Amino acid sequence: MKCIVIFGIQGSGKGIQAKLLSQKLGYQHINIGDLLRDQISRETEIGKQVHSVISRGELVADELVFHLVDETVDKSAPGIVFDGFPRTRPQVEYLRTHYDVQKAFFLRLEEDVAIARILSRRVCQNCGENYNIISKKPAVDGVCDICGGVVDVRMDDRPEAIQKRVHEFYMQTKKQKLYFAQYGLLKIVSADQEPQEVFAAILAELNIS
Ligand code: AMP
Repeated sequence: MKCIVIFGIQGSGKGIQAKLLSQKLGYQHINIGDLLRDQISRETEIGKQVHSVISRGELVADELVFHLVDETVDKSAPGIVFDGFPRTRPQVEYLRTHYDVQKAFFLRLEEDVAIARILSRRVCQNCGENYNIISKKPAVDGVCDICGGVVDVRMDDRPEAIQKRVHEFYMQTKKQKLYFAQYGLLKIVSADQEPQEVFAAILAELNIS
């Protein structure tokens, strides 16, 4: 099955780009972080297993990620946009053996800009809608515009967890650029611009208007 990968440092806007691209192409959008948070909020066995791992800002086990990907993939979809996957070498190997990678977009952003973005991020604890205390505040402070849920800091957007996540990014995820580059699949896009401009660069690379 065809797939497109969107990866980059935390706060680089992977989620919004993956959403826009999947809508444009009619592909399924798979965001591992969202799948894991859903497991936590439903208090499943997996959710209980990963809660503290995610809170600490560590990566969850590869095998668990494969399991979630397998059970989420819609085989009737024309393709998949993977958001935040793969992040480790075994995940890259898994992707290579199971999917046909069309392109891997690396969203490049300086660490200080990324951290500033993460620190201003807020999320609805009920429906997961994203907010930002600078650029996208809810109409009523702390209340989700969509579902009325509580809007607060994401559990892993605390300074210690952010530090750990950024460390994992440099130690594991960023290194996977080499793999994609080796096969001519890597496209680096600056994420230090408006989301619509980032998206335009992605579409241009895919020759889509
Ligand atoms: P994200 O929403 O992409 O920032 O992911 C939130 C958290 O979910 C990460 O800090 C990890 O704990 C976990 N996670 C997300 N994607 C992966 C992945 N591909 N491999 C391992 N852990 C992941």
